[in-house]
Amino acid sequence: MNDLEMAAMKVELLRLQAELQALGDSLDQSSETVELDQARVGRLTRMDAMQAQQMALEAARRRQARLVAIAGALRRIDAGEYGHCFVCGQEIDLRRLSVDPTSTRCMKCLEK
Ligand SMILES: [Zn+2]
Repeated sequence: MNDLEMAAMKVELLRLQAELQALGDSLDQSSETVELDQARVGRLTRMDAMQAQQMALEAARRRQARLVAIAGALRRIDAGEYGHCFVCGQEIDLRRLSVDPTSTRCMKCLEK
């Protein structure tokens, strides 16, 4: 991977990071809205409310894991270690990185 491709990956990672953070903020606001509605009209049953809360927690966990993976990739870019497979050390295919810039394994090692 050349410097230009690395810089493009960094831009993409920063964009993803900003997107996830913005999504997290808007979801925090919408879950507050649900609680308010529920208190006011009592439309949701307790089970519905619990299920909705579980789903929100699960989504938040996934978003958090994504953000950790993105932060890791950004750290590897700054350290000049980005784009190499954690397992075999070979360069990860650029096409694979453009699908998921947080990839840490090449296709071969992923299949193992
Ligand atoms: Zn590998």
